[in-house]
Amino acid sequence: MKKLPLTGMAKTSPHILKTAMPVSLTSILSRLLERKRTKRCANFTLMLMLCFSPCVLSEGLPDLGDISQTVLTPLQERQIGQQSMLQIRASKQFLDDAEIDDYLNQLGFKLVENSAEPGQGFEFFAIGDYNINAFAMPGGFIGVNVGLLLTVQSESELAAVLSHEIAHVTQHHLARIIAGQQGDGLASIAALAVAILASRNSPQAAEAAIVSMQARTMQKQLDFTRTHEQEADRIGLDILQKSNFSIHAMPEFLNRLQRATQLLEGHAPSYLRTHPITGDRIADIENRVYQQPYRLIPDSLGFQLVRTKLIAAQKTAPDAIAYFSDALGAQKHGNPVAQRYGLVSALLRNNEAKRAAQELAILRKQARTNPLYRNSPMIETLAGQVKRAENNDPAALAFYRTVVQTYPQHRALVYDYTDLLLQDNQAETAVKLLSEQLARHPSDTKLYDLQARAYAMQNKRLEQHQAQAYSYAWQGNLHAAVEQLELAKKAGGSFYQLSTLESDLRELREMLDASGGK
Ligand SMILES: [Zn+2]
Repeated sequence: MKKLPLTGMAKTSPHILKTAMPVSLTSILSRLLERKRTKRCANFTLMLMLCFSPCVLSEGLPDLGDISQTVLTPLQERQIGQQSMLQIRASKQFLDDAEIDDYLNQLGFKLVENSAEPGQGFEFFAIGDYNINAFAMPGGFIGVNVGLLLTVQSESELAAVLSHEIAHVTQHHLARIIAGQQGDGLASIAALAVAILASRNSPQAAEAAIVSMQARTMQKQLDFTRTHEQEADRIGLDILQKSNFSIHAMPEFLNRLQRATQLLEGHAPSYLRTHPITGDRIADIENRVYQQPYRLIPDSLGFQLVRTKLIAAQKTAPDAIAYFSDALGAQKHGNPVAQRYGLVSALLRNNEAKRAAQELAILRKQARTNPLYRNSPMIETLAGQVKRAENNDPAALAFYRTVVQTYPQHRALVYDYTDLLLQDNQAETAVKLLSEQLARHPSDTKLYDLQARAYAMQNKRLEQHQAQAYSYAWQGNLHAAVEQLELAKKAGGSFYQLSTLESDLRELREMLDASGGK
């Protein structure tokens, strides 16, 4: 399994080598402290696009060094990306769903492996916004709106959009745009970076925010140029083909988006604003694609289940039950395995455990008949939830023990299992599992929360408050994080533990001071 970029970064940080656990906070804090060089008043807990004061714009980004150079260094790109990512993570728009996150990263890394920079750190994440959009930030951070996930009609279409974004990153288009704005000083570079993020997401939020600043005049310069688009299309197509997806999906998606836009008049999806589609551009792609035979590539079950989950989330539990029952009854469109997955999860939400268990049995039988569907950690996670809803804890524990070994990477499964372990007073087993997971996902706040609960049960106060502090810090709540570290200190511990705490506290306080105490 490909390492996620944050984990990779953490491992290379010299700061980390001398601290035991958790690696994450100290590494991210030391990166954040890059900002110390510029006097700041930004509250990094706020979403970038929602905190558009000129102060944030001029001072909320890392010191970019010599801006006279024409292209930002990879490290500078990464810093801009990391910085923005922390704020996105702390915002309400960040879609905090480990299964959707894991799916996007799985798909994303499959594509990255066939890109020009397979070794580069990437991170894919979902944004809970119904605007059709996907956006790349410097340093390989690629956001995908829920609106896009629901609009694409095949996994190849989603892969086409991601490949195009990956190409923008590997070709350093954003860095070139940002660095191309020479002579305006750091403030405008920061402003541009912020405006890029905003414009790539919700246009309404971006426009409201941009009004107050000079970036309004720069807005046009932020969009990718026609040359960038053509380059990203060409390279994206190559990635798509090498990754064994249907290359015809790219023109199909763009054509459909363009047709939809003509009907909407003036309400073009964000994607079209930032990635301008012209007749030439589509013709260019079609020329490349139509010389090649059409191949039908089946969607993965993960893709279908993620979409089912998103569709279900838009509905109340009774509506979702009706919707998926109808779909299954009609037996026409869609995949019955995914539809039944939607039905079982809706039944669970509606507290109908018995019926959920019956439908789950049918679901598993159906899934077994298709070799592509046999191994699904998402179905197993749902199965575990059904067992828990039936109040059969011993059976659920036995089930999780086996399944977690089969799918150790599936965080949703680990959340549920450790929660049950804690209910069953098995803190030690839970701590062991959580530590393994945190090594893989050092910014996962749910894992820290569970870890804090486990330590509390073991009466390890220092560790409990420390874990809670890391959870708060990753959520961007520095005040609460400092409070927890203070409590950890009071609890007492070894010389080594206390000096680690002191160093974390120092870093957090400096950040807090620099952010104007927010
Ligand atoms: Zn583009």
